[in-house]
Amino acid sequence: MEAQWKSELMRALPGAQILWDEPMKGHTTMNVGGPADAFFQPKNTAQLHAGLIVAREQGVPALIVGNGSNLIVREGGIRGLVVQIGAAMGACRIQGRKAVVQAGCSLPFLAREAIQKNLAGLEFAAGIPGSVGGAVAMNAGAYGGTIADCLKAARVIDRDNVLRDIVVKPDDMGYRTTIFGREGMTVLEAEFEFRYDKGGEARKAYDDFRARRQEKQPLDQPSAGSVFKRPEGHFAGQLIEAAGLKGFSIGGAQVSTKHAGFIVNTGGATADDVLALIAEIQTRVQEASGIRLETEVKIVGE
Ligand code: FAD
Repeated sequence: MEAQWKSELMRALPGAQILWDEPMKGHTTMNVGGPADAFFQPKNTAQLHAGLIVAREQGVPALIVGNGSNLIVREGGIRGLVVQIGAAMGACRIQGRKAVVQAGCSLPFLAREAIQKNLAGLEFAAGIPGSVGGAVAMNAGAYGGTIADCLKAARVIDRDNVLRDIVVKPDDMGYRTTIFGREGMTVLEAEFEFRYDKGGEARKAYDDFRARRQEKQPLDQPSAGSVFKRPEGHFAGQLIEAAGLKGFSIGGAQVSTKHAGFIVNTGGATADDVLALIAEIQTRVQEASGIRLETEVKIVGE
C-alpha cells in the first residue's frame, strides 16, 4: 500500500523533486524535527493541487507548511506528504493601495515593499519571518497590528480539494486563529488593501518595530518566535521570567536569556528537548501564577 501512494505521487507530479524521508529540521527555524515521508515544493498551483488530490485519493495525510517559523516537528517525523509553499509560488503584485500576493512570498519582503510604496498596514510584520500563506493562516500579528487589518480576500484550496475565493469577514479572523486554519484550507494567494502612509507614520513605526525586535529578541539563535499565546491581561514572557525560568534549559533547548517568551536552540536541541521544556514551563508557570500557558507554535508529527 505504501509503495502505491508514492508511485501515484510520482506519476501525478512529473518533473517535481519529491524528497523521501526528508528531515524537517532543515525546514523549520527551530532546527528540530524528524523526517517527512514525502516532501515537495510545488512550482505552481496546478502541481500543488495535483499533490493534494493524490494524497486524498490514497488516504494519506497532507500538511502544508510555509517557512516553518511557527512549527515544532516531533522526532518521529511526519507521516504522509508535506508540501512546502516557497519562493516558486511567491509572486507579489502591488498596484495603488492593493496587493495580490502568492502564499510563498516572504512576509518581511511584502512589508518592506509596502513601506517603500508609502503604504501603511503591514509595518508590524517587518520582522515576522514567515511566508504570506503562513501569516494569513495564523493571523500573525505584533505591536497591536494583525494580518486581519488589511486582508480582504484569499484564494484557497479547501479540504475537499476545491479551489475557492474567500472574501474575508471580521469573524473569520481571531487571535492566532483563522477560518483557513480551522477549516483546513490551503492558502494560495491573498489580497490586501493598505492605507496611504500620509505623514510617514507607518515608515517610522516600521523602523521602530525592527529596532525593538533587534534589541529584545534572540534573532541570532534558532527559534520559533513566541512559544505561547498571550494570556489575557498578561505577557507569557513575564510570567515565565517571574517563575524563575529565564535561561532554564533542557538538553539543547533553552528559555532565551534575552526574551523569556522564546525557546532557543543552543545547538543540537531535539524536538524532545523543546517539548519537555514547553511542558516544564507550563507546569512551573501554573504553580507560580495559576495561569495555564497555551502554545502558539504548531506542534506536528509523531
Ligand atoms: P509555518 O510555520 O510553516 O506554518 C504555521 C502554520 O500555518 C501551520 O499550521 C501550517 O500548516 C500553516 N500554514 C503555513 N502555510 C500555509 C498555507 N499556505 N495555507 C494554509 N496553512 C498554512 N508570529 C507572530 O504572529 N507575531 C510575531 O511577532 C512573530 N515573531 C516571530 C519572531 C521570530 C524570530 C520567529 C522565528 C517567529 C515569529 N513568529 C511571529 C512566528 C511565525 O513567524 C508566524 O506565525 C508566521 O506567520 C508563520 O509563517 P510560516 O510561513 O513560517 O508558517
